[in-house]
Amino acid sequence: MSDCIFCKIIKKEIPAKIVYEDDKVVAFEDVNPQAPVHILIVPIKHIPTILDITQDDNALIGHIFMVANNIAKNKGISGSGFRTVFNCNKDAGQAVYHIHLHILGGRRMAWPPG
Ligand code: 5GP
Ligand code: ZN
Repeated sequence: MSDCIFCKIIKKEIPAKIVYEDDKVVAFEDVNPQAPVHILIVPIKHIPTILDITQDDNALIGHIFMVANNIAKNKGISGSGFRTVFNCNKDAGQAVYHIHLHILGGRRMAWPPG
């Protein structure tokens, strides 16, 4: 989508600190980090919300979690723990309508979330 900020990052039209990419996803540091480690994993396919995920995307969603697994290990937060979040729509505070998995770690997380 031409007006989507994450599609622009994927196409390298705007800069981001990319930590991992392959033919299905791009992962980059969040510009406004909420934890010492805050990375977003974004599918190259533009999917607005998790409600738009279909059966065809099953392997892609599984792949996103495999990438999260590897990033957590590489960033040294797998043992201490980390949180993964897909925000969906207004009440969850979704700001960018191209799905992205947040990986947050490096500090103790509160529960319930705010
Ligand atoms: P959401 O609230 O949609 O789940 O999260 C959107 C996230 O994207 C926020 O944490 C925000 O800081 C991050 N973000 C928004 N615009 C940009 C950007 O241009 N570059 C990067 N690296 N992160 C962004
Ligand atoms: Zn997009």
